[in-house]
Amino acid sequence: MSRFLKESYQAMRAYVPGEQPRDMAYIKLNTNENPYPPAPAVAQALTAGEVEKLRLYSDPTCLGLREKLASLYAVETENVFVGNGSDDILNFLFMAYSREKGVAFADITYGFYSVYATLYGAEACVFPLKADFSLDYTEYCCLNKMVVIANPNAPTGLSLSLSQIEEIVKTNPEAVVVIDEAYIDFGGESALPLISKYENLVVVRTFSKSRSMAGARLGYAFAGKAIIADLEKLRYSTNPYNINRLTLLLGEKTVEENDYTLQTCEKIVATREKTVLRLTEIGFTVIPSKTNFLFAKYPGISGKQLYEALKAKGILVRHFAGERTKDYIRITVGTDSQMERFTEIIREITRGGNYA
Ligand SMILES: *Cc1c(COP(=O)(O)O)cnc(C)c1O
Repeated sequence: MSRFLKESYQAMRAYVPGEQPRDMAYIKLNTNENPYPPAPAVAQALTAGEVEKLRLYSDPTCLGLREKLASLYAVETENVFVGNGSDDILNFLFMAYSREKGVAFADITYGFYSVYATLYGAEACVFPLKADFSLDYTEYCCLNKMVVIANPNAPTGLSLSLSQIEEIVKTNPEAVVVIDEAYIDFGGESALPLISKYENLVVVRTFSKSRSMAGARLGYAFAGKAIIADLEKLRYSTNPYNINRLTLLLGEKTVEENDYTLQTCEKIVATREKTVLRLTEIGFTVIPSKTNFLFAKYPGISGKQLYEALKAKGILVRHFAGERTKDYIRITVGTDSQMERFTEIIREITRGGNYA
């Protein structure tokens, strides 16, 4: 750190992403990427002609993609915002709304929320999840603070019902409520139908998980027109070309081929349920998941020990420090064959080791 860094950033701890090994020798089940390739139309769209067009700036209005998303999800184009990953959108939301009244989120949730709160000097009101990792939605009602909830939640995989979300949105009319639906395509009830009813609701989504486009960096959000206008103001005040031409194009292709996404999500959900059964048989406690990952623990072996034993056998998962999460590993759901290999290795590890 240099002595020039703004004082309030000096003690700030940045978000720590999951490992991205340079060699692909691992079965990679650690960052909730999709094991299937993007929609076939994506590869077909990557032509020399499109590469030639990289000399031109991308469309700052992102109109083509916003129109396609609006049509697929039956909203107006003015209700759609797109960003360079949903992280980019969350950044704008915290920039816009967190400082005024402070921001509430759970103790065990997506790690970026607390980073953004610190970045923008917002007072964070952190509600612990209950012992079973469920979220008591009543704590978020009538708060008059910005609320950010991942639904389904990460890394637990648990979700709230639409009526619980609606209660939070309805009872905080003077504050913005953000529902981060990064995993909604794998289960759970979307809050999207509520955006026409509540001007304080934002639904944030990503192409990274269900659409197999983590490396393209593309996120989208739905909200009332006024909130979308706020976000556009901030985007035009920082980087109006934040989404590159190729990503815009490939995003459109993916939306056009939405059936492919539905099919791959269905496959992942089926593999998830098979894996839950196997892990439970082996003796794991598995939190019921509406996502493309599982949060699970095994008696007598810590999350870190499981992580290390799996890594030694060529499988990457994620474990988290922290009193309440240290016993668990988070396992991204891969293909059937990847998960068969994973359960095979897990059987060996749980049978063999001395982890006292
Ligand atoms: C993966 C994830 C994101 C970030 O997604 P990007 O679009 O890749 O930036 C946001 N929120 C949650 C809860 C996630 O798990």
